[in-house]
Amino acid sequence: MERYSRQILLSEIGSEGQKQLHASKVVVVGVGALGTVATELLVRAGVENLTLIDRDVVEESNLQRQMLFTEKDIGRSKAIVAQEKLQLINSRTDIIAQPVSLHSGNIALLQSAEVVLDCTDNIQTRLLINDFCKKEKIVWIYAAAIRTAGYVMPIVPEGPCLRCFLQETGAETCDTVGVLNTITTAIASMQVTLALQFLLGQTIEPNLIYYDIWKQHYKNIVVKKNKNCPACQGKYEFLGKKEPIRMVKFCSLGRYQVTGKKVDLKILKQRWEKIDTVIDDGKTLQFKDLFLFEDGRALIKAKSEAEAMSLYAKWVEN
Ligand SMILES: [Zn+2]
Repeated sequence: MERYSRQILLSEIGSEGQKQLHASKVVVVGVGALGTVATELLVRAGVENLTLIDRDVVEESNLQRQMLFTEKDIGRSKAIVAQEKLQLINSRTDIIAQPVSLHSGNIALLQSAEVVLDCTDNIQTRLLINDFCKKEKIVWIYAAAIRTAGYVMPIVPEGPCLRCFLQETGAETCDTVGVLNTITTAIASMQVTLALQFLLGQTIEPNLIYYDIWKQHYKNIVVKKNKNCPACQGKYEFLGKKEPIRMVKFCSLGRYQVTGKKVDLKILKQRWEKIDTVIDDGKTLQFKDLFLFEDGRALIKAKSEAEAMSLYAKWVEN
């Protein structure tokens, strides 16, 4: 317990609280600017069961704010790299890495969570999390940061939900806007503080917190339930949505996600090795401009959808 002595000294936590944290289960969706900070704080605080979900790979432009990653990690799966780093920080932690794209078909990955942390960067995934957690009565904590400001809000089963105040419009665009690394770390810290309070059995107010770290503006906004909110009326539209279309253009320049059938990575590795270098991560393969996950999903650098599709057909499906 020496490891947690400074935390146990806090009257807010104490040794009983520390035991509760060890036994807690948290699922973090998105291991980027918010997720790398949130997971590191949770692991250092002694939360010993963690699931990390992230569909992306580390890029050079991530290093400015995605705290667990280093130059050596560029090109590798974020979920897997984060798992390795977190395991080094706290070897007692049981961490499951899920390098997948979250959709209605695999949303049950959130089922085991006592609390879900939304560290994603897109509204579609958030609305899916919202529907699932509302239906299953799981507490989740919304967080978002852009430019110099961000939002955090705990969403509890009986309180207002994300759909009460956010519409599907305003969906993801590929415009890149800047973001300050002090706001992403600050927002993730606020999100984890709320998660710890909830895990310790304390009451958390389901208010929307807004913070601009550049202007030093802080607002605590009371959100009301929207009478017309489908999710609050038990209509979970996003859970009914079919799996994503086969092809998605990622915001990162010139990268496409192509989904397909589950693959045998060993067989593909043997075949590809005869042609060029293959980097094997256990659960992923990297070959030429293609990054393949075992569920058949690939991230491909290409100039067009057609080129991405033909590369997928050539290397994965043939
Ligand atoms: Zn609602």
